[in-house]
Amino acid sequence: MVSRVIPVDTFDLVIFGGTGDLARRKIFPGLYRRFMAGQMNADSRIIGAARAKNSDEQFRAMIHDSLLEFVPKDRQDDKVIEAFLARIDYVSIDAKEESGWTKLKSTVRANVVRAFYFSVAPALFGDLAERLHAHAITDATSRVVVEKPFGRDLATAKALNATLAKYFAETQIYRIDHYLGKETVQNLMAVRFANILFEPIWKAQYIDHVQITVAETVGVDGRGAYYDKSGAMRDMVQNHMMQLLCLIAMEPPYHFDPDAVRDEKLKVIRALEPVTVNDIVRGQYLAGGGEGGYIEHSENPNSKTESYVALRVNVANWRWKGTPFYLRTGKRLRARYSEIAITFKEPPHSIFDDAKGWKANVLVIRLQPNEGMNLMVMIKEPGPGGMRLMQVPLDMTFADALGQDAEDVPDAYERLIMDVIRGNQTLFMRGDEVEAAWAWTDPIIQGWEARGDKPQDYDAGSSGPEDALMLLHKDGRRWREIKG
Ligand code: NAD
Repeated sequence: MVSRVIPVDTFDLVIFGGTGDLARRKIFPGLYRRFMAGQMNADSRIIGAARAKNSDEQFRAMIHDSLLEFVPKDRQDDKVIEAFLARIDYVSIDAKEESGWTKLKSTVRANVVRAFYFSVAPALFGDLAERLHAHAITDATSRVVVEKPFGRDLATAKALNATLAKYFAETQIYRIDHYLGKETVQNLMAVRFANILFEPIWKAQYIDHVQITVAETVGVDGRGAYYDKSGAMRDMVQNHMMQLLCLIAMEPPYHFDPDAVRDEKLKVIRALEPVTVNDIVRGQYLAGGGEGGYIEHSENPNSKTESYVALRVNVANWRWKGTPFYLRTGKRLRARYSEIAITFKEPPHSIFDDAKGWKANVLVIRLQPNEGMNLMVMIKEPGPGGMRLMQVPLDMTFADALGQDAEDVPDAYERLIMDVIRGNQTLFMRGDEVEAAWAWTDPIIQGWEARGDKPQDYDAGSSGPEDALMLLHKDGRRWREIKG
């Protein structure tokens, strides 16, 4: 099945940090794919802006190299690449200096959608916003896209919101959380709210617990000094995993509309109970598999930053009272594996003698690898052996079910950038949402900092620290396997 591509309006997209890692690895390859699909029209333009003194040609050559490196070979078409590169310009600009802004102003057209992607360190957001405004490059119709991290605590997030609010209305600000751009994550909403099947049982009465796992095999080698100031809680839980939790736990919005969806997510965040010390396990990976451990990678021999965290989270409202949400994320784990697993309760009464064979229904939403869903259901074991039960998956790997080449499923970044051009904020975080998430996260981090807690060691290539297993065992449950 070929998915429908609806072209977006003509745009000028300025990418500050256009020479950076994110721009070269994700943003430009994503835009190329949208151009190839016909969604970005041939009149739209992308303007790279960064400090380096590149000519347009030098910058295009750099982007050409990035496309060859990051676009799959069978999607590299010389003619399309040439036409795409012709849509790219470059302006040398320093966020903290005055030069370059006049050139940028004359480069950006007034009569098209104007978007400004801040793919630079957040410390520069204020400078960029101020200069864009001072040089009248933006107006009330312009959009700004800001990258994570959005603050490192409530105070810094508030300050960042206040700075942006000086120059832009909330409806102009697109705070990226690329997890929300994932096909499966949006499918979570479709499955919940476009079917009658799940919603009546989507509550504590029928759901035993929820597990959210984001496991990575890579460590922090090469960016250890940066990561050491962040840690798994700030880097993954406060933003990405919180967003996933919200989409599972939220009430049905009255409409699939930016504020209706974000209002419901905000209510979930506000309903999160404080997490006690017994509900948290933090870890640091050890050396192994020919690689150094966290301590070596972080370059800080006394580091207490966690490369792994597991939490038990309770949502204190009528729908979820009594159903814990277990979250875990870590680096250097057994496999690169992300999923949400919703485990249902036992039927109230069994008519079968085969009690041993019974297993809980689980709805698994897989984010990677192979985005898709699985519903584990009980059936009769085939054959004449009597009524014995077994569990089988109702498997829906999207690429298979839709007859799609996995390469054709748009990447989160390309989808989100197209939403910016369309002016649709549904999949972007609102300022009050981010602040509420920090308001819940801050006391947790402050708690372990005040206690001086040191994370537990865990083996590289394992499922995480031993105590993380205990977190579920003491509730009579177990983590699902992190599969390779
Ligand atoms: P990077 O260090 O590779 O690139 C930084 C870019 O900012 C460069 O283009 C540089 O020229 C530009 N820059 C630096 N100082 C500047 C100044 N004074 N004026 C103008 N431009 C300046 O960083 P990155 O990895 O591309 O990350 C960019 C942003 O995206 C950061 O906020 C980062 O946290 C976020 N982010 C990155 C990734 C990733 O995978 N790389 C993922 C998520 C979020």
